[in-house]
Amino acid sequence: MEPAAQMPPRPRPVGVAHRTDKTRVLVVEDEKDIAGLVKHTLERGGDTIVEVAASGDQALRAASEQPPDLIVLDLNLPVLGGLEVCRLLRTRPGTARTPIIMLTARASESDRVIGLDAGADDYVTKPFSPRELAARVRAVLRRGKPDEAAAPPVYRGEHLVADFDAVSITVDGQPVRLTRREFELLRYLVENRNRVLSRDRLLERVWGYDRIIETRSVDVHVGRLRAKLGAAGRQIETVVGLGYKFIETEK
Ligand code: CA
Repeated sequence: MEPAAQMPPRPRPVGVAHRTDKTRVLVVEDEKDIAGLVKHTLERGGDTIVEVAASGDQALRAASEQPPDLIVLDLNLPVLGGLEVCRLLRTRPGTARTPIIMLTARASESDRVIGLDAGADDYVTKPFSPRELAARVRAVLRRGKPDEAAAPPVYRGEHLVADFDAVSITVDGQPVRLTRREFELLRYLVENRNRVLSRDRLLERVWGYDRIIETRSVDVHVGRLRAKLGAAGRQIETVVGLGYKFIETEK
């Protein structure tokens, strides 16, 4: 009998490999029941290890000792609130880019905006379905890894064709010359298409933390990029009070 075909190697887990090859998630939640539920849900697949921190202080300590691959952060924490924890995590090199999903009991738009502006990548409103949270965690982890992401490096829209690997941008077949920053801005917008991206987030992800610039320069760059993209520029939508969104158009 023929030996069974060799199985392809398991894909590498998302995130930096630590002492384990499992994905490490830090859950910051003072309510034991909820923390337990989240831990149970995320660990069920067997490829994730969840550490629970019951306070912001504890979370900051745990995250600096061993930066996790993702943080689930409750907004409503005693003493040091979730927003403050989020901001502090974002100022530290070890966690500046760690994906953060905020748990919030409040569903109002302003709370979501505040959460996203503080640096959260996504939010889940309580009460949440554990399956939905697990799906969000997977989605955010995929997004956080553009190098390994399933998203193809070539974007083909109605007017715009952007080959980010080849650094080739065309609109209706005509090449478009972009500055490096405009290119990176477009890449980030396209990679995160149909999601609202706040100015702060664009600054953080496109400009990086080493640069101290005003959020207004995001608007300036977006304006220039839009103008250069002509017909495809309309895909970059301004979301009033929030930021920008790259809209996927039907071909
Ligand atoms: Ca709480």
